[in-house]
Amino acid sequence: MEISRRSFMLGAAGASALAFGATALGSTPAWAAPRPDGVIVSPQDAIDRLIAGNNRWANGKSDRRTYAPPGQTPEAGQWPFAAILSCADSRVVPEDLFDVAGKNLFILRNAGNIVDANMLGSVEYAIEHTGISLVVALGHTHCGAVNATAASIRTNTMPGGYVDSVVNSIKPALEPLPAAFTPTEGVRANAQQSASQFQNMSKVVAAATAKGKVGVVQAYYDITTRRVTFF
Ligand SMILES: [Zn+2]
Repeated sequence: MEISRRSFMLGAAGASALAFGATALGSTPAWAAPRPDGVIVSPQDAIDRLIAGNNRWANGKSDRRTYAPPGQTPEAGQWPFAAILSCADSRVVPEDLFDVAGKNLFILRNAGNIVDANMLGSVEYAIEHTGISLVVALGHTHCGAVNATAASIRTNTMPGGYVDSVVNSIKPALEPLPAAFTPTEGVRANAQQSASQFQNMSKVVAAATAKGKVGVVQAYYDITTRRVTFF
């Protein structure tokens, strides 16, 4: 247990430490052992599934598709092929807008789709123990968190309470933009920041992407057109 804990703290500082730690925990990293059903899903396959699902959703032809093996009890495991970091906005429901059934997505949500230590830990868990092959940082149009941050920058005021934490997390993404940036430009910059943070702050994510086993992408959802744009 002591070795496992130390390996976890070290993250992917050393490939051998990671492999040994994962073995001690009773499982292997996703790139060593694909999903429990043995299906190898490439990052591109995962994006293609999400694009196809969003097309069904946008065209009003949802069928709640599943890629998980049929006939499995919940106790048998889980089979997500992608992790989605989305906003907590009630109009942005990843399983709706990507038209997939339960068990298919590992979903992380907070106001402003912000990366913090808990989100990093959640994604590392998903990579090492559920076999996901894609991480999506998903923003959306009409995002209150992004708009509040834009207002904070333009008026040099803070909203107060713990919303300040949300605004302070998004600010570094918006401050480099031209002063008259549009709401959509702000949303795109914030999603880009989150995707970059996953790659730059987590050695587990970096190691998995370097091996080509996991992709990290950014996208935004237009709540008017129901379309997701990967960029
Ligand atoms: Zn939002």
